[in-house]
Amino acid sequence: MVNSEYEYVKREFEFDRRLPPSNWIVVRIDGCHFHRFSKMHAFEKPNDENALRLMETCAMLKKFPDIVFAYGASDEYSFVFREETEFYNRRESKILSLCVSYFTSVYVMKWKKIFPNKELKEPPYFDARAVCYPNLKTIRDYLAWRQVDCHINNQYNTCFWMLVKSGKSEQEAQLSLKGTSSKDKNELLAQQFQMNYDDELAMFRKGSSVYREKEEKVVKNDYGDPMKRTRPILTVAHVDIIGFSFDKPNDAVDLS
Ligand code: ATP
Ligand code: ATP
Ligand code: MG
Ligand code: MG
Ligand code: MG
Ligand code: MG
Repeated sequence: MVNSEYEYVKREFEFDRRLPPSNWIVVRIDGCHFHRFSKMHAFEKPNDENALRLMETCAMLKKFPDIVFAYGASDEYSFVFREETEFYNRRESKILSLCVSYFTSVYVMKWKKIFPNKELKEPPYFDARAVCYPNLKTIRDYLAWRQVDCHINNQYNTCFWMLVKSGKSEQEAQLSLKGTSSKDKNELLAQQFQMNYDDELAMFRKGSSVYREKEEKVVKNDYGDPMKRTRPILTVAHVDIIGFSFDKPNDAVDLS
């Protein structure tokens, strides 16, 4: 391509930040003003199962093979890229903008299928950041941090909405939960509402983990002999993340 006299505006002013090599890259996106968005679209409180399913369908592992794990709760998702990914030469702005725009587009595209009777009243949008974690311990601790956050928020919200649905104002509910421990909250649910927190859906309590699981299948080769083949299956689970095996990254296979 012939360079014009204006080409200096790129050469001298545009700088790419490349994320450091040999680090796990996490892209975390979070819905902007989803407190309002969830009210406007009459999400069930504290948890609208369909809205969570919609987020799950946006998890992008099919689109981006270098994402080895995704974890989501509420209006947020974290996408873990494999340590050695060369996706867009690890350029931060490319990775971030592609992830967040693709996620948002799929969210809008799939809305009607999940909410056939609900009009999308305003465009959902998400913020995004990228963080690098240098080893397995820190990436595990990152995911544990998000899952603990999911638990704390969900336990609080479960109590809050039970109190509100039983007639308290939002302010009163907030006041009666101020300073309560996790144990206090479980007791409140048991005593006032005969509810066992552990009976709530695992999806609400544990969030959603999306990953590829290897399925072994026996198929016949060209000579009719049986042979084992493995293929990755996209899996969604609502479980404790602690213990997930990243050590053997799944084959980078495009599942789309
Ligand atoms: P910000 O723009 O700063 O992220 P926010 O309003 O999105 O603000 P968050 O802290 O991200 O605030 O919280 C997400 C909000 O969206 C919570 O109020 C939560 O109740 C609501 N929300 C998200 N997903 C669901 C869902 N599946 N069911 C019910 N409410 C949801
Ligand atoms: P990359 O992912 O690297 O950006 P690209 O295919 O998007 O690849 P661009 O250099 O961005 O390539 O070029 C955009 C392409 O989209 C061009 O091929 C152009 O013909 C096509 N395109 C975009 N807008 C229009 C339009 N309004 N009408 C017809 N073609 C369009
Ligand atoms: Mg935010
Ligand atoms: Mg938000
Ligand atoms: Mg959030
Ligand atoms: Mg283009």
